[in-house]
Amino acid sequence: MTELSLAYIFQQQQLLVDENFQLPRVEKLASDLSFSSGDQVIARDLLEDESIPEGFQLVPIRQLLQVWNTQQFEQASRAIQLLEWRRNHKFCSHCGHKTEVHATQYAMVCPACGYHQYPRVNPCVITVITRGEDEVLLARNARNKLPIYGLIAGFVEVGETLEEAVRRETFEEVGVQLKNIQYLASQPWPFPSNLMIAFKAEYAGGEIQLQEEEIRDAQFFKFDQLPDIPFKGSIAHAMIMHVTQGTPVADDTKAWL
Ligand SMILES: [Zn+2]
Repeated sequence: MTELSLAYIFQQQQLLVDENFQLPRVEKLASDLSFSSGDQVIARDLLEDESIPEGFQLVPIRQLLQVWNTQQFEQASRAIQLLEWRRNHKFCSHCGHKTEVHATQYAMVCPACGYHQYPRVNPCVITVITRGEDEVLLARNARNKLPIYGLIAGFVEVGETLEEAVRRETFEEVGVQLKNIQYLASQPWPFPSNLMIAFKAEYAGGEIQLQEEEIRDAQFFKFDQLPDIPFKGSIAHAMIMHVTQGTPVADDTKAWL
């Protein structure tokens, strides 16, 4: 009898699960991506001629973030990112030859020139900024139509330290200066392949000046008068609760909820 594998089967940003949001078990195919934690877990895209099995449905991944625990979400997040990477590295970026999947590592290997392409993670800093004992700086993203106030975030540039990225992004987006920048926690974020690196910092000076193409509004809010903030399960939510309520950003088991 063939042993069945637990399967992450995607169609774009949706995942196949049953009515209790549990994963299906399927026969492993040679083209499936296996996890290093064992051959029992695989990931693949829904095959073109594959129908959705009875009792299963495609659910948006962001929705699963609300119902799954951290460990389940992180494994799914890894599956999404590895599949995405494999899809985008079918050819060697050095010589253009067709690549092959490495037998034991997460690498796409070029049989012609030997170049190895590894999955890339994009570091992104996110900062919760406080002023005095009871105020936090929250900003409304220009692209978000909902009236939700989140944190200043942005990608780390080549040659920059994380702290420099925190200072630069904050100054560019809201025009204020910071002091006492401290690392808090991190969270892999598979939309598409970011590592969110969380910092807290204190306001050091400057008037709020918006970078209007990025930020619609930014204000210092009293801890007990917060506007709508990002959803529970996001690192921004955990960071805002951390400074306003004193809750941990992450415990030893990396639970965000
Ligand atoms: Zn090559």
